[in-house]
Amino acid sequence: MHILIVEDELRLREHLRDRLRKNGYVVEVAADGEEGLYYGQQFPLDLAVIDIGLPKISGIELIRRFRSNGRHFPILILTARRNWQDKVEGLETGADDYLVKPFRFEELEARLNALLRRASGWSKPVIDCGPISLDTGKQTTTVAGDPVVLTAFEYRVLEYLMLHAGQVVSKAELTDNIYDQDYDRDSNVLEVFIGRLRRKLDPGNRINPIETLRGRGYRFRRGEC
Ligand code: CA
Repeated sequence: MHILIVEDELRLREHLRDRLRKNGYVVEVAADGEEGLYYGQQFPLDLAVIDIGLPKISGIELIRRFRSNGRHFPILILTARRNWQDKVEGLETGADDYLVKPFRFEELEARLNALLRRASGWSKPVIDCGPISLDTGKQTTTVAGDPVVLTAFEYRVLEYLMLHAGQVVSKAELTDNIYDQDYDRDSNVLEVFIGRLRRKLDPGNRINPIETLRGRGYRFRRGEC
């Protein structure tokens, strides 16, 4: 999942970037509205976190420009406690949710997950596809009720495939959504992750949840999702 953070407070910006990257998100950061606008137009984002009080272009104006340019990714706004008007204006301009500063990272992540899920057409936190179950709130996975331990990257690959169950996801699309720009984008690495996921999810080769479509990519079996 590819997320943009537009926040002029250096410490908060870096804190959010580091925590989200550690949890497997691909993160772009911008320190002002102008930079935010650039990233929002250049990258295929899944979500943006936008502070309302920004230099150069305000958060409200930034949301207005994204929406009028046909950018429909979910937007979470960050507001200062005393400025309740910002919330209303932000939501009316096209933001999807808000968080009042200061907040705990866990709350931000829970809201991001809820927004990402809704944008993909899922409304509940647990995605069940036959025996495989993914809890996007707790970020845990079970197969036939038994917990499966996944690394952060394996989890992100699986989450992306399951959120797009039944659709063909190209290697490029998957890579864009699980790696940072500066990460080694060798597609062999992706194949290794997929191989590991298959072994963890389906050690007996019975359900084959992730199909490989030669030259096109991967598809998570829609089956009983
Ligand atoms: Ca600010």
